[in-house]
Amino acid sequence: MTTAFLNGDYLPLDEARISPMDRGFLFGDGIYEVIPVHDGNLIGFGLHVDRMSEGLNAVEIKLNWTVQQWREVCDKLIDRNGGGNLAIYLQVSRGADTKRHHAFPEGITPTVFGFASKTEASQISDRTTVKPLRVSSAEDLRWRRCNIKSTALLGNIIHFQKGQAEGNDETLLFNAAGELTEGSASNVFVIKDGVAATPPLDHQVLPGITRLMLLDMLRKDGSVPVGERVVTLQEALVADEIWFTSSTKEVGPVVEVDGKPVGNGKPGPVWEVAHRLFTARKFDY
Ligand code: PMP
Repeated sequence: MTTAFLNGDYLPLDEARISPMDRGFLFGDGIYEVIPVHDGNLIGFGLHVDRMSEGLNAVEIKLNWTVQQWREVCDKLIDRNGGGNLAIYLQVSRGADTKRHHAFPEGITPTVFGFASKTEASQISDRTTVKPLRVSSAEDLRWRRCNIKSTALLGNIIHFQKGQAEGNDETLLFNAAGELTEGSASNVFVIKDGVAATPPLDHQVLPGITRLMLLDMLRKDGSVPVGERVVTLQEALVADEIWFTSSTKEVGPVVEVDGKPVGNGKPGPVWEVAHRLFTARKFDY
């Protein structure tokens, strides 16, 4: 049984209980993180904790945990869940109130929850064997604060479900101007003539840790030029390659959008370079 963390205690996940008056439950009033663990080692731990602190500050949830406190929870969850390959989920909600009222209540204690789930081993950097991704496309109809990693994910879920219902793995989102934003649970890179581009960070995009790490690796390595710029859906549809990035997918090659092939319809050579680099450097963050 999975061991979870709830408000200071470690306990079997199915024994963890919160109040139905928790604002995370009533309003989706909370912030979360998913931190990957490969072979028992956290990837991008400091970056994930920084992003969570920024999210908590943005929505005025006052928790004030130190990085060391988060580290201890993560280390214990890894240890008590057998190490290996895991995704550590951390969530802080504003806490349980005595009434349902929109305003932030004074004096309630945030609810801190964490658990770990087993994940598959990383893909090998081989374009002939990697599992390709097929995606749907849809106009991005989420709220305008997508830079905050809020637990209120109904918009993302509805977009993700469209892809699933169409037999695809994910959904590529574009705004009313026809510009890509991201995937419903991923960031996106588009590659043409050996040059990679990803939409710039603003309120339409989650500042993905995998995106940040990959950008940094590609820039330092120099073998694949990469830019942060507006990328249109039109460009994506004639691109050589598209990649989706996330903590659980790492760098995944997209081979179809709405049933139409991306490039030659197979994972591409630039993906292989990027994936090899990511695999070699991911523990440096
Ligand atoms: N965008 C969205 C909407 C996400 O939910 C995620 C995470 N699943 C990402 C991007 C990727 O972020 P990260 O690389 O930090 O996992």
